Order: sequence, then C-alpha cells, then structure tokens
Amino acid sequence: MLSFWEKDEFLNYDHVIVGGGIVGLSTAISIKEADKKAQVLVLEQGTFPTGASTKNAGFACFGSLTEILADLRGLPESEVFNLVKLRWEGLQLLRTRVGDDGLDYQNLGGYELLRSSDMGAFQQMNNINEMLMPLFGEAVYHDRSEKIDQLGFNPSIVKGLVFNPFEAQLHSGKMMKSLTRLATDLGVTVLTGTSVTQFDENSNGVDVRTSRGITFRSRKLAICTNAFSKTLLPKANLVPGRGVVLVSKPIAGLKFKGTFHYDEGYYYFRNYQDRILFGGGRNLDVKGEETTAFEVRNLILEKLKTDLNNIIIPGQALEVDHVWSGIMAFGPNKQPILESHSDNVHIGVRLGGMGVAIGSKMGFELAALMLR
Ligand SMILES: Cc1cc2nc3c(=O)[nH]c(=O)nc-3n(C[C@H](O)[C@H](O)[C@H](O)COP(=O)(O)OP(=O)(O)OC[C@H]3O[C@@H](n4cnc5c(N)ncnc54)[C@H](O)[C@@H]3O)c2cc1C
Repeated sequence: MLSFWEKDEFLNYDHVIVGGGIVGLSTAISIKEADKKAQVLVLEQGTFPTGASTKNAGFACFGSLTEILADLRGLPESEVFNLVKLRWEGLQLLRTRVGDDGLDYQNLGGYELLRSSDMGAFQQMNNINEMLMPLFGEAVYHDRSEKIDQLGFNPSIVKGLVFNPFEAQLHSGKMMKSLTRLATDLGVTVLTGTSVTQFDENSNGVDVRTSRGITFRSRKLAICTNAFSKTLLPKANLVPGRGVVLVSKPIAGLKFKGTFHYDEGYYYFRNYQDRILFGGGRNLDVKGEETTAFEVRNLILEKLKTDLNNIIIPGQALEVDHVWSGIMAFGPNKQPILESHSDNVHIGVRLGGMGVAIGSKMGFELAALMLR
C-alpha cells in the first residue's frame, strides 16, 4: 500500500525509460542535456544492468575488414558507410561524455586475423579504405602480416593480419558505472530491481506497470530493452543471441596488446592487462543460441579453449579464470530499430554486436523522438 507522500512524489514523470543498459542511460542523459527540468526515470529489472552492456567484451570498434565486406554483400554501400559512421560517432559521443579515464579507454589498435580462406580480403582493402576516407581522412586498414610471429599466433593457421589504428578497448563495468553516475548527477532517477510488465496508453500519457504492483505515470515512454523486448513488444522484429566470454588468469610474457577478431567478427579476443579475454562461437549453433538464458554451453566453451591453444597462444599453458554470457539482439540486417510505437511511446532496440559503439548515438536520437 502506498502512502500519500509516495503517491505525491515518486510516481509521476515526464519521461520513463525501460532498461538501464547503454541505450536506456544514454537516452536519459540526452533528455536531461536538452531539458534540465525534465523529470526522468529509468527502470531496470536487474540489480544492475543485466543484458549486454555490462557483459560484453569492451571492444570500441566499428567493424573489421571482413565484417564490412560481409555487410556489403547484404546492404548497399551507402548503408554500410552510414552504419560505420553511426558506430564511430557513437564512440566519440561516449568518450566526450564520460571521458577516457571513466571508460579505461585505451587506443591500442585492433587487428583482424586472416586464415587462408580469408586472404582474398586484402584485394578489396584499398576499396574499403577509399569508401571510409570521408569519415576518417586516412586509410583505416593496413597489411601488418609481418607481425604474426611477433604476436605469437600460429603461422600455419593465421596467414594475414589487418591492422586498424582507430580501434580501442575499454572496461565495460567502468563505462556503465560512469554512465549511471552521469545520469544521476544530471538528476535522473534510476530504480533497479524493477521489472516493467506492461504499459497502457491513455489521454494523459502512459501508465507503466511493474511486477511489484506499482504503476508509474509518464508523458512519454522509451523502451530500451534490447534482447528482452518481446515481453513489452511481442511483435518486435528481433531475436536474442547469446554471446559467451572467458577471461584467463594472468599470463607471464603475454605477447600481444589490443583488440583482435577473426571469422567475420564471430570470434574476438583482447588483452585485459596481462590476461586474455576471448569471446564468440555463436556461429557454431546460431539457432541454439537464440535465447535469453544466461548460460554457457560446453560446445562453445570447448571451441574457445581449442582456438586459444591452436591459434592464439599455441604451445603456452593457460588457465581460464572466469566464464560468462550476455544476451544481444539481432535482426535481418545490422540496422538497429529506432522508431515510434505511437506518439508517446518510442523504441530503441536491436543493437547487435556493436552496441557499445552505437549506444550513445541511439540514445541521442531516441531522446530527440521523446522530446519532439
Ligand atoms: C558477450 C557479448 C560481447 C559483446 N561485445 C561487444 C563489444 O566488444 N563491443 C560492442 O560494441 N558491443 C559488444 N556487444 C554488444 C553490446 O554489448 C550491446 O549491443 C549493447 O550493450 C546493447 O545495449 P542495450 O542498452 O540496447 O541493451 P542491454 O545492455 O541488454 O540493456 C537492456 C536492459 O533492459 C533491462 N530490461 C529488459 N527488460 C526489462 C523490463 N521488462 N523491465 C525493466 N528492465 C528490463 C535488462 O535487464 C537490461 O539491463 C557484446 C554483447 C555481448 C552479449
């Protein structure tokens, strides 16, 4: 039972945002940046954000050479260019907002490992560099195959290395803590442990119902629930996709620093200090990994361990320290969903595998819809 004080002070807002991941928090921040007086509430079902934003690999990336070539097989060049632009501008907005210290942002560069079957990518590298020239003002991808031995990769499998000096790494936990702090400093109310079960539109705005029986009232509602969106939007055109990540114990004399990908981005690894953080393998059973369950299947974990031993640090002992999974959202192509469900309800979901890059810009654009 609510008191008069609670009803008077806690229930009414101008903007309610469901989901406290990078998109939800960025939307809240953008609304407050545009309208200081707006009453903004973020409702997050987890104890802290519990989807992808605190569970990812922390790559500040915008696409490897083979990923971009794969995208060009399904989308026109202008759309692929615009996707890269969205990711790059999203990263710059995130850095400006939080600051590199708040992200533990380290611009160590990124590499793509090419196997024999991928080597054709080099023939198209100059074309892709031309395509991206208006955005970066210089070539993005460079042949650094001479470094395969120095970085310790298995030369019988890794035949080429493509270097991208613009790629960086960050600490996803620090990023989300910094974004939460920025939002609350701006006056946003963030309530965790609060699951939204339903929303109902009426002439005053939107009633937002929660699993604990409390109903919030808002003029506008933003839905930023990414992979978990079907609860509120059963017709949303997306499927969940689980991603598995492991982190090793510290490795003496680790030979590489930076971010690394192979197999069109399905596998990704990086250093975190003197550890290896390695994720991927969803392509081993794409259908089986279309789930919102936070579990790790042996099929995938074993493949990650095998690739570590065979490709990444051959012949060197390594102990896995910790393994986890997070849930992404995918659709028929890599375009996120940014749209209005009605005049008062707006949606920013389906961030795919590069939401760290896209999230801030998505929030900015979703806030513009909310403030319209
Ligand atoms: C393993 C893995 C590795 C990744 N690596 C990278 C990477 O290196 N670089 C990169 O750019 N991207 C990466 N990504 C993708 C990136 O993390 C996501 O695209 C991004 O975090 C999505 O942000 P979001 O805010 O849309 O969703 P989320 O972070 O999932 O946030 C949605 C939030 O909504 C909450 N929620 C859901 N339903 C409700 C409800 N009914 N009521 C209240 N709250 C609700 C959830 O608890 C969740 O916290 C990775 C993702 C995974 C899983």
